[in-house]
Amino acid sequence: MAQSAAFTACPPERIIPVEDRAAGLRGVIVLHSLRLGPAAGGCRFWHYDDDGALHADALRLAEGMAYKNALADLPLGGGKSVLAVPDRPYDREKLFEAFGRAVRELEGDYITAEDVGTTVADMTAVRRATRHVAGLTQEPGRPGGDPSPWTARGVFLSMRVAARRRFGCDLDGLTVAVQGLGNVGSRLCELLHDAGAKLIVAEPRPGVAAHIACRYGAEVSASDTILSARADIFAPCALGGVLDADTVPLLRAGLVCGGANNVLATAEDGDRLAGRGVLYAPDYVVNAGGIIHVAGEYLGWEMADVARRVEQTGERLERVFAHADREGLPPARAADRLARERIARAPLPAERRSA
Ligand code: NAD
Repeated sequence: MAQSAAFTACPPERIIPVEDRAAGLRGVIVLHSLRLGPAAGGCRFWHYDDDGALHADALRLAEGMAYKNALADLPLGGGKSVLAVPDRPYDREKLFEAFGRAVRELEGDYITAEDVGTTVADMTAVRRATRHVAGLTQEPGRPGGDPSPWTARGVFLSMRVAARRRFGCDLDGLTVAVQGLGNVGSRLCELLHDAGAKLIVAEPRPGVAAHIACRYGAEVSASDTILSARADIFAPCALGGVLDADTVPLLRAGLVCGGANNVLATAEDGDRLAGRGVLYAPDYVVNAGGIIHVAGEYLGWEMADVARRVEQTGERLERVFAHADREGLPPARAADRLARERIARAPLPAERRSA
């Protein structure tokens, strides 16, 4: 998985380096914004070339979470933790317990969960040190466990809204090129197939691609050509930073809508898409189903409340498109602006406490 493309528009509220040499823990927790509530965002455990790359990834991801949580109408700020995979042998459980102690020291200002490279077992180790963690094993009738089906559902609902806007029709008969058949991509394929869409898929694991091809009649493309497949819609569900100055001109689809985080390498790539007449459904608006589910687990919501909020994903995307029209902005910039405005309108934590 590629690192997230690096840009941040606003400085974070706090950057907390985390280190426990004995446990092999090294990384950073970034609290981008606490104005809407505790900063929520997962823990990435990944190999980085150097500390600069690790920090850049954390800053960018934390900012993205702040915007995602704000536009999903969650009572949460945004943050992220990024930990380096040690380059020497280590005890994974001890490492995540040590990370849990670092989270505990923040006294509820940061809520962690899984992200790329972390699992339910890791979060269970974190839970031994702190209660400010979600993504744990599901209890019957309550939110918990793997949030990807909710992410896929939100992406699917968004794609419907965006297809109507871009092509004036529903998904039935349209062709969708899906990049990545992991937890989100494979579930999205099922929803698209049931809605009558045709599928072109790419996935480095040949067995997985063959399974989806067989099950849903999908055409299999090579990973390096999926971006330029003859499709109406491109659905990135694997990597960050897939659309940049080199790849935007290769797109044949008229709409981009997928589950991946940080699809655009830079903010300018959203302008490039608009310049080519490609409608972009902003990633953090459409893929918020997972964090809504995680928030429900942490805040103790009923499943019905989680489902209701995820079902509203398409309406939230419509609001972003409407704002883009009013302001004459590409959708990605309109989403950023709406999110910043929502965060700026919220009272500061000290004001909240005294209210
Ligand atoms: P995953 O690891 O299960 O799936 C990613 C898939 O992409 C894997 O099957 C991998 O083999 C494939 N892949 C890697 N490189 C590829 C390439 N070059 N071309 C095609 N496929 C490639 O991850 P996921 O949970 O399905 O998440 C997918 C994306 O959605 C990630 O960017 C993640 O950050 C984002 N996301 C996930 C959730 C969630 O609930 N899981 C929520 C929000 C955002």
